[in-house]
This record gives sequence, structure tokens and C-alpha cells, in this order.
Amino acid sequence: MKVSSSTVALTAAGLLAATGNAEPIKRTSKCGLPLVQDKALVDAILLEDLVGCAQDLEDIAYATSRRNRVHGTEGHLNSVKYFQEQLASLGDYYNVELQEFTTEVTLQSQAALTINGETVEAGGFSFGNNGTWANVPLVPVANIGCNAEDHPDTLSGAVALIARGDCTFVQKITLAGEKGAIGAIIYNNAEAGLAAGTLGGVNDLIPVGGISRADGLRFVEQIEAGTTLNSAGDFWQYIDNTTSYNVVATSKYGDANNVLFLGAHSDSVEAGPGINDNGSGSCGLLTIAKALANWRTNNQVRFAWWTAEEEGLLGAEHYVNITAASVLDKVRLYLNFDMIASPNYVLGIYDGDGSTFNLSGPAGSAEVEKLFEEWYASQDLPFVGSEFNGRSDYGPFLDAGVPCGGLDTGADGIKTDAEVSAFGGTAGIWYDPNYHSAADNVTNLNLDAFNATGKAIAHAVATYGKSWEGFPTRNATALTRRIAGAAPKKYTPYMKTSRRGKKTY
Ligand SMILES: [Zn+2]
Repeated sequence: MKVSSSTVALTAAGLLAATGNAEPIKRTSKCGLPLVQDKALVDAILLEDLVGCAQDLEDIAYATSRRNRVHGTEGHLNSVKYFQEQLASLGDYYNVELQEFTTEVTLQSQAALTINGETVEAGGFSFGNNGTWANVPLVPVANIGCNAEDHPDTLSGAVALIARGDCTFVQKITLAGEKGAIGAIIYNNAEAGLAAGTLGGVNDLIPVGGISRADGLRFVEQIEAGTTLNSAGDFWQYIDNTTSYNVVATSKYGDANNVLFLGAHSDSVEAGPGINDNGSGSCGLLTIAKALANWRTNNQVRFAWWTAEEEGLLGAEHYVNITAASVLDKVRLYLNFDMIASPNYVLGIYDGDGSTFNLSGPAGSAEVEKLFEEWYASQDLPFVGSEFNGRSDYGPFLDAGVPCGGLDTGADGIKTDAEVSAFGGTAGIWYDPNYHSAADNVTNLNLDAFNATGKAIAHAVATYGKSWEGFPTRNATALTRRIAGAAPKKYTPYMKTSRRGKKTY
């Protein structure tokens, strides 16, 4: 199915026309606003505003035929327009810029599988090739298919059934293709939904689909018992270059040499409207940006709503790439918010001092972690460390040597018993059971998490908007790697093709 590109083009043209009228920056040395106050700003963050914004984003997604907000689609362009208009309604408090960015995205996809006429739940892989077949036998590959000898000659003209694990998807399906298989089905190596991930880039491999571990093991058992399983598959994706925008809003007040920078991604995956991931973070920042406009700050505050995070942190990376080091040097701290209302939540604080996960950030990353810890403690709220792995939009900032921090409430990690004791919820399942699915909508947001996180961000904005006292001075921007904590571990840079839930093996 082809995308109706005319709708997208018209919307993009409308956006450009709207930004053409942007007024030049006016520097006001004195303004009549009072200096920001911590309690007042925190109290101004209302759950109804957070949820109202999330509902607006869901409505924007559901008004489109795709029902999502993927970079460059109508749902995303209208999200960008929404942030732009909401900020414009604040008068001239912020200078709002739209930064254009074009990249290749999957716009539509299909993953259908039947075995002996029975429909089996299946999913596609990023960069998987198109393929349609019927009445083709399923042939299991030995072990986990990482070696040529695991792939039998009987794969010729058949569909290979392969277990996930140990080596890349590419390696497994390359070997199956070399034996003449016309397609591959990979089953998961854990009871965690369908096998899914990315092949890392455009390729000429056989088509591939993913199924659950239970289905995979059941089929292997049936075939080994002598039953012939015939498959029919229909896997395709429509990938195209699309253009969308980072929205960057910088307050006109405050010291431009000592900037506090906050970011959240505004795009979703294809599967759904992306309301926890990351309507929640986007709305947290919008609500705070609106509340802040009633106050003056001593330090300049910048907000960004990044595009194409789900394609591999591309919007934030683009910003860092095209921004002069002299400008990045003026960023004292970058704070990131990605998923802050997870249904089965924890209150996570980026582990900037490396105390929990042994990966720390540039000087300042530990201090902001402490600020959030003390805030949650003062509110009698429990908190946990979140791995500081760069797998969201702060990755490119860390790589440029900018101190970073942030909050999240969990994605596709498994909640522990200890976390249930502290936060409630359900052990043994994901923090967000709707992660990257159609059910990631307003109904499933956890409002306690949303409220607590929104207020914590406001506290950070009030604190650093007023003063950097006690915060380390900034080292010059450079492509230096992060230094691990007390017992150094090898640093693993963030990978474009290996996002949460998009693993390459
Ligand atoms: Zn996200």
C-alpha cells in the first residue's frame, strides 16, 4: 500500500509557511516578571494539563489513517505544529525554531503468517525484505543457526525456522538463504513476545518474520514428531524518505552563556500513537515550558522536541552535529525525558554517577542525579537508578561531552519484586507492557508517575533556572567518551540500530 504523499506534502508546506513569519529575536534586558520560585513552579504543574496534552497528541495520531506519529507522517507533522502553536501562544517568551530533518522511515508494514491454515501472531524486522509465499514447508534449523552446519540441505525451497540468540539475525538468515531457503521465521529466545529487531540496514537477504518462543518450540516439536507444517507468509514494509522537524524553543531571558537544556522526542513508532513513548515526556516539557513563561530566570532555558528518535536518535544527533561547539559549550546541562508515565512504573533517575550501573557522565551528571534523588526523597517518593547508556536523545549530547541527566519510568525492562515492594505494580512483566504497541495510549498512562515526574522536572528547571551554584563548571565540548565509575568498564557507545526493543540479535 502506498502512502498518500500529497497530504504529507501539504502539511509540511503549511508548517513552513507558518514559520516564515517568525519574528526576529528581541533581547529584553529587564522584564516585569518575578524570579522563578521552586514551589510555585512545581505547584503550577497540574496533572490535568499533562493528561490534556497527551490526549491532544492521541487525537492527532488517531485523526490519521496510520493512527501513529512516525517521523515525517501527517501525525508527526501535526504534533510538531501543535508544539509550535502552543509555544507561540506564550507570546515572545521563547524564540521558537523548527529544524528540518529528512531520513528513511518505515511508513507501513504487514506481517502475516499461517501454519497449516492456523493464524500465528507474527511481526516484521526493521529492514526486512518483502516476501509473500503459500504452502511452503517449515524446516527447523539446528541449534541456534549461527553456523553453516546448523542449516540442513532440506532448507532448499523451504522456510527456515530459527531460534533467536548468540549471533545476529543477519548471520542466521544469510546462512539459511545460502541453503536455498525462501524465507525465515525466527522465534524468541525468551518468553517476551515476538522476536523482533533490526537487520541494521538495506540488504538483499530473504524475507524474515518473528514469532514467540512458545510458538517456535511448539512447531519444532511437531516437525520432529513427523508432522509436516506448511506455511503461508505475507511480510512487507513500505520505506521512504520523510521530512520532519525538531522544535527548539529558547527563553529570551537569562544568561545565554549558562544554558539549561531539556529535551524529549516527539515522534512515535509505527505500531501506535506513542503516548507514554514519548507523548508523556513531550507533554511534561510543554507543560513546564508554559508554566515557566510566567517567570524570569537567571539562566537561559532551552527546550527541544526531537524528531526521529525512534529511527535511532537521529533528530538529536542532527542538532548536535550542526550546532557549533562554541554554542554547545554554553549548555551547562542537558536533561532528557523519555517515557515518564509507564503503567507498571518505577521512578527512575539517570545513573549519572555510575553508582548503580557503572557508567557515568561528564562532570555535573552526578550532581543532577543527586538533585533528583533529594527531590524524590523530600516528597517521600521511592526512586531507582536508570542505566546511563545513552539509548535516548541524550546519547549524542554525552558524546559531545555535555553533562546529562534525566528521569524515566521504565520501558521494556522487567519489574523486580523489590521494585513492586517500593512502587506497587506487577513483578515479572515490563514496566510498560504496551511499549511500542497500539495500546500505548492515554488510557494506559500511569497518572501518579506522570504527576511525580512532571513536578520533579519543574523542580530542576526552577533550581538551575535560578542558579548553577554548586554545579561543576563546564569542560569544553569535545568528542570525548564518557568515563566509567570507580571500577571502569568498557564504554559502549549508543548504537543507532540497536535501540530498546530493536536488538540486532
Ligand atoms: Zn522513546
